Amino acid sequence: MICPFCSYESTRVLESRLSCEKASIRRRRECESCIKRFTTYERVENCAITVVKKDKTKEKFCRKKLVKSISDACKKTAVSNIMIDKITESVESEVVMTGKKEVSSSFIGEKVLNHLADINEIAHLRYLSAFKQYRSLEELIEEIKTSSKVPALFQF
Ligand SMILES: [Zn+2]
Repeated sequence: MICPFCSYESTRVLESRLSCEKASIRRRRECESCIKRFTTYERVENCAITVVKKDKTKEKFCRKKLVKSISDACKKTAVSNIMIDKITESVESEVVMTGKKEVSSSFIGEKVLNHLADINEIAHLRYLSAFKQYRSLEELIEEIKTSSKVPALFQF
């Protein structure tokens, strides 16, 4: 990508966002020479990212679904809709940044968990239990015991 200001050939990507409505990836870039910033839009076909689920079935990446799964985990917690939006945006950005056309649902799940671990313990645990689909409470407890992402308060 050539800098529109100084024509230098190397730019750094600061942020990538998928816009399904516009079928494009928006990237904020910074020129490595003159440090000026600019935005590029790259067209993607039919919102090209596919999510591969655990059972190997595939579906289109869907922002709404991601928002819903996070919202469910955040019900009746202090996590606001604005926070949920922010998490969605950064996860989306992390997905796009992989540069891959297919990502696994567990990749997305792990990213969401990382964000939730930083902001709300309850939401994090709820998402964790929904995501891993534990068959028993013992399994969940085992995960909590071994996870470094779970705050000390929740360690048994
Ligand atoms: Zn430049």
